Amino acid sequence: MKIIYADNNATTMPAPEVVDAMLPFFTEMWANPSSMHTFGGQVSKYIEKARASVATLVGASSAEIVFTSCGTESDNTAIRSALATSGGKRHLVTSSVEHPAVLNLAKHLEKEGVEVTSLGVDSEGRLDLASLENSLRPDTFLVSIMWANNETGVVFPIDQIAEICAQRKISLHVDAVQAAGKLSLDMRKTPITYLSISGHKLHSSKGAGALYVRKGTPFSPWLLGGHQERGRRGGTENVASLVGFGTASELALLNMQENAARIASLRDRLERKILDSIPYSFVHGGKTVRLPNTSNIGFEGVEGEAILLMLNECGICASSGSACASGSLDPSHVMMAMGIPFTRAHGSIRFSLSRYNTEDEIDFIAEKLPAVIRTLRELSPIKAGAAY
Ligand code: PLP
Repeated sequence: MKIIYADNNATTMPAPEVVDAMLPFFTEMWANPSSMHTFGGQVSKYIEKARASVATLVGASSAEIVFTSCGTESDNTAIRSALATSGGKRHLVTSSVEHPAVLNLAKHLEKEGVEVTSLGVDSEGRLDLASLENSLRPDTFLVSIMWANNETGVVFPIDQIAEICAQRKISLHVDAVQAAGKLSLDMRKTPITYLSISGHKLHSSKGAGALYVRKGTPFSPWLLGGHQERGRRGGTENVASLVGFGTASELALLNMQENAARIASLRDRLERKILDSIPYSFVHGGKTVRLPNTSNIGFEGVEGEAILLMLNECGICASSGSACASGSLDPSHVMMAMGIPFTRAHGSIRFSLSRYNTEDEIDFIAEKLPAVIRTLRELSPIKAGAAY
């Protein structure tokens, strides 16, 4: 059966060019990049080349990029470093729709005496900038806000948020794991202190992430060990993945605008067809600025997991809530924060596309979905539209 992959916010297919770039690091170039010999030094040069490519992707200089293993590690490193170097400040501002990599760390830090303000969002997933401004205090050590939401694709106005934080001289961490490679990010123009990104979300392999740390920012490493990453992250580098990350960053910058426009038109086609053919279906966050690739659609009166299983039977890969939340039957924290009615939040499905999707695939999904929803609604004790 042909696989139709519409779960690119969970992970992406490594681009063929990325795989080609990685392969020599399993066969010929396998030395430890920290070794003193020439062999090690040769490998090390490729890491630096990858660092330059990742830096270019976000408009940073190479020295500002710390390689990590994933987005989660980048998020944890940034927030912990900001706390460790805060000079005793212990108030963190974040939002209620962050990825668990930030949310769960914030909960953990609360137990250690950090005070956390979690900003809510409206029914479209938008943040209220006045609330953000009002939440800032003299003891706020960090604002940690995502660039784009992994479940809905809703994009936060990071330029304005960065401006607010800069005026108050408060550090800003931005989780750009979903934004990188999809939107143009430029650290020279936006006064962000820390920015997290992850290779496997932009057609590289798993096992490579990066944390941008603005030049001059005090830094406290999270992983203590050897002197790798100029003492900012101990541990032998995952060379092949980092090299792949560099290639993937170069590819993402090629035709970024054209790719985004094409992917957005596929996304809009999918939404139009679904809304036209399935009553009581709703696009979550559809009235605000979103990533070009993400569509989160609620189907009133059915269970997301059941929809996923039936789509799976047709070879369609999608997701309910975030991949990390699947396995739990609670509606996602993002849907709850948006105040989406329970009977719709439960039946919400995320389709997330990439430059490898085609119009035929979109039409196939749109063709299969109405029968899936009809069948499930016939079985469901909750009647679609009962709440309207
Ligand atoms: N932040 C966001 C917004 C994400 O979507 C994800 C992954 O889905 C992460 C952080 C964690 O990234 P990783 O899977 O590389 O740890």
